[in-house]
Amino acid sequence: MRNTARQTRENRTITVDFQNEATYGQLLGDGKVFVELVLAFILSIGLQLKHKATCRGSGCLTRHSHYVRVRLGGVTIWRLQCTTCRVVFTVLPHFVLRYRRMRPDVARDALLATHGGLSVELCAVICHISPMALYRLVCSFGHQGLVTVLTRCGLPLPTYFLADKKHSRCLTAKVYLPTVVSGRVIWHLGYTEEASAAAFTQSYGEFQRTASQQEPSYRIRGVLIDSFDSTTRSMRTLFPGACLGNCLRHALTQLPKKLVAIASPVRQALRTQFHTLWYRVRQQKGLRVFALGQRLRHFADHVATTAGTANGARVRRWFQDKKAGWYAVLADPQMPVTSTLLDQAHNVIDRKLFMMKGFHHPKGSQQAFLRGLAHLYNLMPYQRRAQHAGQCGVEVEGGTVPTRDWFLNLQILTSGGFR
Ligand SMILES: [Zn+2]
Repeated sequence: MRNTARQTRENRTITVDFQNEATYGQLLGDGKVFVELVLAFILSIGLQLKHKATCRGSGCLTRHSHYVRVRLGGVTIWRLQCTTCRVVFTVLPHFVLRYRRMRPDVARDALLATHGGLSVELCAVICHISPMALYRLVCSFGHQGLVTVLTRCGLPLPTYFLADKKHSRCLTAKVYLPTVVSGRVIWHLGYTEEASAAAFTQSYGEFQRTASQQEPSYRIRGVLIDSFDSTTRSMRTLFPGACLGNCLRHALTQLPKKLVAIASPVRQALRTQFHTLWYRVRQQKGLRVFALGQRLRHFADHVATTAGTANGARVRRWFQDKKAGWYAVLADPQMPVTSTLLDQAHNVIDRKLFMMKGFHHPKGSQQAFLRGLAHLYNLMPYQRRAQHAGQCGVEVEGGTVPTRDWFLNLQILTSGGFR
């Protein structure tokens, strides 16, 4: 089974906005103006072309050659060459998708509908395309890495993040999606068939490697996890210096599950008291960690007296397992406190995967498909609250996108021609 996206050959295709097809048609007759317009567009979106490592990119671009794309009803595509390092860039006008016959306006509607929750079958029917074409479209965007696209938007690599896996299914087999989220963006969405620490280390390692390539001095300060063993172990292996915290909201939701064979009002009362404990601890600055240790001990004793020694012992063991992670969250004010944002991202991805059930076959391009979904999650201007209405996740986190058009942004940012 293919866990990683197919290695694509070095692709230096860029998408350029020519406003409309007629303008593009006119420009084809004037090479000088064409090159000037392409350069002006690149300048306006604030990205730089990917020349050879040795080239400073200061050389002139010349029109290299052109070829007619028969599949696209005869649209002429220009290629530009750097006069210094000789690399060739393929310039796709905004109304053409790379290697695809589908028109961008059709793709835009279909992707918007699937992101909005419509089944892939319905999206395909209303847009007059095949479900498989929609699946392949998402995969095509997933060939570019998440770290690459997010850093192109000017987002700094996350020094604190949330990490957890999500269960899914491929036919009847259980599969796992190791995920890294920071705020409203997904930095990593992997795919493994095993829940082992080795499998997770390999998946999260892809994120760590690309991040370190982008910024050799990259260090992670803290990770919030939900103490799933393999996730914890893979984080310790990959980011030895990082603090590992446990979600404080889960602390509250897990307590009732630790209390068995007791009357519901007793369980409810203990839950309320536990809630108060956290509220008080979080209000105390400075001595928070010390205060928590003492209060947890008292609380476990209190459980033993009110709910029996068996429950008391279970809660005490649970505290032993978790308290280091809770201390880590309290000790560093910059640590994320809850994993809510990761849960929300997982829910969004889960709905898409459920809809894509028919495409989950062992020979599918799972990794590319998931990455494509993650790009949509990061770049589609959908946020549930009015505060960020009309913004995409990247913008909410302080990044900038090349244009006001989300689909054009997706085309530009997932292209291979930019540094
Ligand atoms: Zn060059």
